Amino acid sequence: MRSLVIVGGGSAGWITAAYLNGALNDRGQNMKVKISLLESPDIPRISVGEATIPSMRHLISVIGIPEVEFMRATDATFKQSIKYCNWAENDGSHYHHPFTSVRERPLDLSGERWLESDRSMRFMDTCAVQPAVCEANLAPIILRKQAVPTTLNYAYHMNAQKFADYLRDFSVARGVEHVQANLVSVATDTEGWIESVSTDRTESLHADMFLDCTGFNGHLISKTLGVGFEDYSQFLLCDRAVTMHLPYERFYPGTVRPYTTATALSNGWAWDIPMQNQRSVGYVHSSQFISEDDAEAELRAYQGKGTEDISVRSVPFKVGRRHQLWKANCVAIGLSGGFIEPLESTGLYLSDLGAVLLAEHWPANKASVQNLADRYNRLMANRYYEILDFINMHYCLTKRTDTAFWREVQKPERINPRLQAKLAMWKTKPPTAHDFEDQWFNGMEAYESLFDFSHIGGRLPIDTGALWNHESYECILYGMGFAPITDQDGASEARPKSRRNQSTERAMNVLNILPDHVDVLSKALGMKAYHKAYQPNGWV
Ligand SMILES: Cc1cc2nc3c(=O)[nH]c(=O)nc-3n(C[C@H](O)[C@H](O)[C@H](O)COP(=O)(O)OP(=O)(O)OC[C@H]3O[C@@H](n4cnc5c(N)ncnc54)[C@H](O)[C@@H]3O)c2cc1C
Repeated sequence: MRSLVIVGGGSAGWITAAYLNGALNDRGQNMKVKISLLESPDIPRISVGEATIPSMRHLISVIGIPEVEFMRATDATFKQSIKYCNWAENDGSHYHHPFTSVRERPLDLSGERWLESDRSMRFMDTCAVQPAVCEANLAPIILRKQAVPTTLNYAYHMNAQKFADYLRDFSVARGVEHVQANLVSVATDTEGWIESVSTDRTESLHADMFLDCTGFNGHLISKTLGVGFEDYSQFLLCDRAVTMHLPYERFYPGTVRPYTTATALSNGWAWDIPMQNQRSVGYVHSSQFISEDDAEAELRAYQGKGTEDISVRSVPFKVGRRHQLWKANCVAIGLSGGFIEPLESTGLYLSDLGAVLLAEHWPANKASVQNLADRYNRLMANRYYEILDFINMHYCLTKRTDTAFWREVQKPERINPRLQAKLAMWKTKPPTAHDFEDQWFNGMEAYESLFDFSHIGGRLPIDTGALWNHESYECILYGMGFAPITDQDGASEARPKSRRNQSTERAMNVLNILPDHVDVLSKALGMKAYHKAYQPNGWV
């Protein structure tokens, strides 16, 4: 297959164009596949998607983007963790889910030791330094050459609009064709393969392969090819966000947190994503439980005084995925393929993974497409179900009862059966790596009939722990106060004091070595200096 038309120029479209040009065309040096991208000049991008996970570093390095250039162009800051506030109880408590933990080798008993302790320290503080690094507002890297006792993984916060623009300019400079026009119709052949797309301003675009990156519209995968949608709203109740940007000229809180903050509110949660010149805040909520006006008022209250003239944008979304992301010669990447709400920042990651797997499964000819598509669909589906479990867990483990929303998310019918089976297992033993080798847990019978697995080989999906392994599960479980069956009496003062494991204790030295996050942003990236205004009301 020698030509590709990508329909849609949001982050998903440009991530895929840039990645495929990097991986298949040697960054434009050896054009094996002609890549064209059709972008509507009239339909705006969704322009959320500002927090990432570490896979973004792999993405930009394959594309060939120098990190400093990327960070300057997108107002990026470092992200080392997600800080969850008020999720377990509405009491000002928090825990971090950092990108790096420091476990004991050869046998890691961090979970057991902490469960047996008085829990005077948070679990992740006993087996990771990154929560302390984050709370001290330190960068994950140093600017001069010096050995750091432990390597801290990181990702970025960035301006979504600038990110897509930057990838566009980078790709076009390396041979990707940019067509600015609206999609009008899609022509298919008798076998249901896409032949061409017609536009309102250009000749029809013909290609061997087509990508649907048209966002929630799903013009190709849904409207043309009729692929159905698997809905996850039974397990994830949020379906809308209200969001605003707070410029540092007026709202600089005095620091740039090197992490995303996710604060549980009355009917959902607020993201707080710091960039070099502004913070993005957004309240992800369930429209069944709170009106848009009330959500907006709650978001403004989270920030505090002075936001009356800052406009708020409402972003509705649906959670779920297409039964097939790849059908015939069309692959849906980005929101057209599915979305599992922004907690844990997996939206851009799924576009990134879609691009990586497509490059790996790029068909040599038409005859090989079905085999590759079946495999691609299964690998992508595995990851969607993995994300569904993990995000679902953040909600269902809450002990909050202050609103109908938080009472609702704990009900058994709101917990998907595979997650229920995992949680039942982890009541009897802490999570370990072997939990991800085989996917049959007792109690999973209901899972078999819950979803239509016929499009992924008629077999249950596998959670390989590729995105979140047992260490991440432990982090959320114990952060949320999940107790094993042997521990119904809870922590008590009579137990041994909780303490850091030895490796973490040694690694704490990084606190004396790592520089301040803002210092790094200003010295390396030219971030401007701002006067401190006030700290947001909602910060814990
Ligand atoms: C509330 C919310 C918060 C999110 N937060 C995060 C986050 O923190 N981190 C993260 O990783 N992800 C996040 N995501 C997901 C992330 O925003 C998306 O994965 C990402 O922006 C990719 O979007 P997209 O390119 O698929 O869609 P869009 O940005 O909607 O792009 C669609 C493109 O298709 C084009 N198009 C549509 N119709 C036509 C037509 N008829 N003709 C031609 N072109 C057309 C549009 O012009 C546009 O260019 C969030 C999503 C939501 C809803």
